[in-house]
Amino acid sequence: CGIFGVNGVSTAANFVALGLHALQHRGQEAGGIVVHDPEHGFNSARRFGYVRDNFTSQAVMDTLPGPIAIGHVRYSTAGSKGATAIRDVQPFFGEFAMGGAAIAHNGNITNAEELRRELIERGSIFQSSSDSECIIHLMARSLQKNIPERMKDALRRVEGAFSVVAMTRTKLIGVRDALGVRPLVLGRIGDGYALASETCALDIIGAEFVREIEPGEMVVISSTGEVTSHRPFEQKPSRFCIFEHVYFSRPDSILGGRSVYETRENIGRELAKEAPVEADLVCPVPDSGTPAAIGFSLQSGIPYAMGIIRNQYMGRTFIEPSEQVRNLGVRLKLNVNRALIRGKRVILVDDSVVRGTTSRKIKEMILDAGAAEVHFRIASPPTAWPCFYGVDTPQREKLLAATMSEEEMRTHLGVDSLKFISLDGLYRAVGEANGRDAKAPQYCDACFSGEYPVAPRDKLAQGFQL
Ligand code: 5GP
Ligand code: SF4
Ligand code: MG
Repeated sequence: CGIFGVNGVSTAANFVALGLHALQHRGQEAGGIVVHDPEHGFNSARRFGYVRDNFTSQAVMDTLPGPIAIGHVRYSTAGSKGATAIRDVQPFFGEFAMGGAAIAHNGNITNAEELRRELIERGSIFQSSSDSECIIHLMARSLQKNIPERMKDALRRVEGAFSVVAMTRTKLIGVRDALGVRPLVLGRIGDGYALASETCALDIIGAEFVREIEPGEMVVISSTGEVTSHRPFEQKPSRFCIFEHVYFSRPDSILGGRSVYETRENIGRELAKEAPVEADLVCPVPDSGTPAAIGFSLQSGIPYAMGIIRNQYMGRTFIEPSEQVRNLGVRLKLNVNRALIRGKRVILVDDSVVRGTTSRKIKEMILDAGAAEVHFRIASPPTAWPCFYGVDTPQREKLLAATMSEEEMRTHLGVDSLKFISLDGLYRAVGEANGRDAKAPQYCDACFSGEYPVAPRDKLAQGFQL
């Protein structure tokens, strides 16, 4: 998901709409904005579909007045099986002592079901099935005398990997979990401040990037532009999601002081070193494989070409929740550039293989177009474990790499060769010269390694086996 918040500007909702539009790649199912204004109190609009279709009309934006606002773009993971209900679209807001608060989050609270059961037993009335609503109820029950302190109380009870933007009537709050698994950045706009999942959302509103919110940090931003920093969690070494570098973030964002684009190009270079192959062309599976394909081409000297053309009017296929839509999706979205491919030995570079649906379909299309050989190079290690921290990987059984060896995957996909970047190679590409520290990994890489930095407590209770 993508989150955004702004305080201390006029018509805050307009900035949030723009910020969410820049974060649309992080979630396309639904979006929502909550605002507050002294005259009208809290107001919200929550809709299915794209930001540009919901938050551009004057009629809608006029219902969202005020100098403070937060917003969310949704991509369903935890809780919702299949289609999302509108009641699960964030941000949530609730009125309680001291005026109440609104909240939106990216990631996953791993003990949400346990907390929810406990809160319901104690009388909380839930409106949604979303895990972030727990935070609102925990805040409402806290005995602290101001909302930031209530937020700290609430955060001490939740486990997981998440970033939060929240707002009171006058204060904007940003939080990253203790390990900093999900991203959150601070920007300055005029006399006000913005919080965003990625820097590309600061760029779109002309805000200046100030810094990343630190792992385990909570910032409180007043309407007059004071920023205070708090530490609600026990200090731990950070474990940022390495897959943000590979796929999730936009290539024009800056993560941990590094350009995501450059990191992806490095991944391609590493891949070319680790798994060279003789061929005529390097083609990306667009758009997610593009920077890595460029890196592969630069390193290997094999010409880069757009052998697959993407229809720009489709969303990310993977994000469509149903299998049927996803199957069809590949063809709706990608087409082979036949004239270029015929008779060629082609290296295809993609960011990841999850179920293998995309790769299989693409291989068929490429062979149909008369390619002489097809070699897959993948910019991440085999995805063998589900993510429980906000990225929608399917159940373990559905992950190709969970049940097959590399050679079995190669046969299954029907390609001439298949190679994944090594975990160490990926760490080198993101700037860890000595690779992965096996004793204390610098990143979360659970979907590749099976080492979960936060116990997926609810999942374990449901019988998930580590
Ligand atoms: P598959 O077709 O193998 O199930 O999925 C792989 C494709 O899904 C890749 O092209 C990748 O770009 C895309 N993708 C979209 N969202 C995600 C995600 O959340 N995780 C992973 N691993 N891949 C994703
Ligand atoms: Fe990122 Fe994978 Fe960790 Fe999920 S499991 S947070 S996708 S590295
Ligand atoms: Mg892709």
